[in-house]
Parts: sequence; structure tokens; C-alpha cells
Amino acid sequence: MADKISHSDEEWRRRLTPEQYSVCRGKGTERSFSGQYVHLKEEGVYQCSACGQPLFGSGEKYNSGTGWPSFWAPIEKGAVTGKADRSHFMERMEVLCSRCESHLGHVFDDGPPPTHLRYCINSVSLKFVPKEKPAGLKGAGQRPGDSPGSGKPRPRRGR
Ligand SMILES: [Zn+2]
Repeated sequence: MADKISHSDEEWRRRLTPEQYSVCRGKGTERSFSGQYVHLKEEGVYQCSACGQPLFGSGEKYNSGTGWPSFWAPIEKGAVTGKADRSHFMERMEVLCSRCESHLGHVFDDGPPPTHLRYCINSVSLKFVPKEKPAGLKGAGQRPGDSPGSGKPRPRRGR
């Protein structure tokens, strides 16, 4: 596994946007349905937005209806770690990036089979990297996220 990353608080503040900082380092939670990846169904990999480690794959993403990107398993064992979280008078399992220990979200045991787990993750903690199209298909000059004809409006932030 890749080496751990650790930065001083000041360094993290410099590297992350204020929004990322408050979630990844301050263990905040973005408002439900506010995140950019809630409804994303494209194939690809979700990396840690703080350090780039691959965390979740689109194959394990599902619609939990909670308003946060939800996965029933990480992309590989060891990509994320769990830690008991007893804040807010609840007993929950916090999910952290195993490489830089950024806060990602929480894991619950009411997910779908086969794992019955629900990794409830903040979009802000993730960076989506679309799967590369196999060579031969055109799209050489096409930038990811720039697909004409998908017809979907861009998600609006806030209300
Ligand atoms: Zn990380």
C-alpha cells in the first residue's frame, strides 16, 4: 500500500478549498443533495480529493436516496479505514482515507447485498475520474465531463 501522507494543519488549509478542508479535515458533512456526485452514474473511479488515492468504484455506487454518494464497498480492501465515532450522541463508524486520514463520511449496516454496508460519503471528499474510453472509440479530443447530448442540467449548488 502507498505510504501514508501527513501534512500539518496549515499545509492542508493551503492545499484544500475551504469546503474540502471543513469536511476532510474538520469532519464536516455537506448538506444532503448538495454534492456534485450524488446522482452521477458514469463509470469511473472516485479518488480521495485530498490525496488522490482510489477509494470507490462506480460499480459499487448505488442510489441510497439519502442525498449523499453511497457505495456498498470500497474499491479495494484497505482503501478506507473505519473509526468509531461517538459524536452527536450517536454511535457511528467514521470512514477515513487510509492514506491521508481525511474524513470521508460514515459507514452503516443497512446497505444492499452482498455486503449490506452503506458507505455514505461526502462528494467534497471525492474526486471522480471517468473511466478511459477504449482506444478506437472516438473521443480523442473530448474532455471528460464535456459530453454533449447528455442533456442533464448541471447540478446546482445550494438552494
Ligand atoms: Zn486521502
